[in-house]
Amino acid sequence: MQAVAALRQVRVASLARLPAALQWRTYSDSAQHDADLVVIGSGPGGYVAAIKAAQLGLKTVCVEKNETLGGTCLNVGCIPSKALLHNSHLYHEAVHEFKNRGIDVEGVKLNLEQMMNTKKKAVSGLTSGVAYLFKNNKVTHVKGHGTITGTNEVTATAADGSKEVIKTKNILIATGSEVTPFPGIEIDEDTIVSSTGALSLKQVPKKLVLIGAGVIGLELGSVWSRLGAEVTAVEFLGHVGGVGIDAEVSKNFQRILGKQGIKFKLGHKVTGAERSGDNISVSVENVKDSSKKETLDCDALLVCVGRRPYTDRLGLEKMGIERDEKGRIPVNSRFQTVIPNIHAIGDCIHGPMLAHKAEDEGIVCVEGIAGGPVHIDYNCVPSVIYTFPEVAWVGKTEEDLKADGVEYKVGKFPFSANSRAKTNQETDGFVKVLGDSATDRMLGVHIIGPGAGEMINEAVLAMEYGASCEDLARVCHAHPTCSEALREANLAAYCGKAINC
Ligand SMILES: Cc1cc2nc3c(=O)[nH]c(=O)nc-3n(C[C@H](O)[C@H](O)[C@H](O)COP(=O)(O)OP(=O)(O)OC[C@H]3O[C@@H](n4cnc5c(N)ncnc54)[C@H](O)[C@@H]3O)c2cc1C
Repeated sequence: MQAVAALRQVRVASLARLPAALQWRTYSDSAQHDADLVVIGSGPGGYVAAIKAAQLGLKTVCVEKNETLGGTCLNVGCIPSKALLHNSHLYHEAVHEFKNRGIDVEGVKLNLEQMMNTKKKAVSGLTSGVAYLFKNNKVTHVKGHGTITGTNEVTATAADGSKEVIKTKNILIATGSEVTPFPGIEIDEDTIVSSTGALSLKQVPKKLVLIGAGVIGLELGSVWSRLGAEVTAVEFLGHVGGVGIDAEVSKNFQRILGKQGIKFKLGHKVTGAERSGDNISVSVENVKDSSKKETLDCDALLVCVGRRPYTDRLGLEKMGIERDEKGRIPVNSRFQTVIPNIHAIGDCIHGPMLAHKAEDEGIVCVEGIAGGPVHIDYNCVPSVIYTFPEVAWVGKTEEDLKADGVEYKVGKFPFSANSRAKTNQETDGFVKVLGDSATDRMLGVHIIGPGAGEMINEAVLAMEYGASCEDLARVCHAHPTCSEALREANLAAYCGKAINC
């Protein structure tokens, strides 16, 4: 009850920090409430929203059921996966590439335990960093499972069963998502694992089968492939990289990953898995012809068929907040549910399940609560696959534009013609820019290549500002950088010719 008592102190001083434009809507009547805003969930959506709300002068509480803050992203998602991707890439380079670059190293050995420790250190550093930010910004952190027990009330139930009731003006649901289970296959997080278990395997599997060749499957498949596992991905769809990837990029991506040793069974579905001793037999069937069946043997199976919104014991039914067919909470353009002071953002609502999308929604949602405008252009939310090479895109694919009947032009530039990529001997991939035929406006950018995940942000900025391909092509780019390939692709899109190829 300490947190609630602390909340009763009205922080008048904080109102002074409200931007002038928002000050019309002050919270002088907040004495009736313990908080202006209770955020349920501390993932990238929730914690960022909570900090922003406090910075705008709202008395903010964040309720989190897990021991650590940061949600899926920091604990079992973006951060640990990127730690393993980075370090497994270095290991792979040391074993296979250093020699070609004039670096002779003897006896390179994998120390998986140390690699996992490095990952844990990254996670704990960042999750405790959120706790520090909460303290610094005066966000009250309440530990417990949050349930909405009234339009203006959230009850947090701690692990020991004790309850804390928080009265609040506004509620923000940021409860995220969980792994989608695979019917008939029980995940033990030991050898039959979800992404969570795949981040902590105790040894490198000899053979790893992935159910799903989407973003998470390919990232984690790459990690274990680099560390020595024979990886086979079974994918229902006819392409790799999940929904939203440009078809040409996907084809190239599959070819590059194939060269790295990952095998693919596209247009196939897994129908079951049976364990016998250390062996797991995975039954696979051709999607178009079910008489074509086969069995794949492995010692680790990664189930990565997607994630679904997590809204367990949130109290939505009692509040009359229904979910859609995918379990998502419907919201309007200000992220309000059917109850106007109860909002929702992030993985538990519509749109791509991405940390930066959740963060941006969190920020504009609380700005809206404080009286500001609310706007997100979902066309400018980038996607990145952090394999090597990376794959990144923003905006429309060629397939989207064809379906929408938009006349477009394509500008492409291969990394094999980019001086920096050539110098670094990292020439796989290309930049592809899609521009409007009539106006030259940039409609989509697709990159497969070194540093694509960083480079895409330049394209996002350009698209946010409604740039034309010519605009980007006329911006001076430092030399020698891989980003010059983005400039050249825009040059090719707007005037038909790049300089260096
Ligand atoms: C392996 C993996 C790798 C990923 N890599 C990337 C990446 O590189 N880039 C990227 O953009 N995205 C990535 N993602 C997706 C990203 O993690 C999610 O999109 C993001 O975390 C969603 O943020 P969120 O705030 O909506 O929810 P979450 O991060 O899921 O956080 C929700 C939080 O709410 C808490 N919670 C839930 N219910 C309650 C309750 N009733 N009471 C109290 N607390 C509750 C949960 O414990 C959790 O802490 C990855 C995901 C995985 C699994």
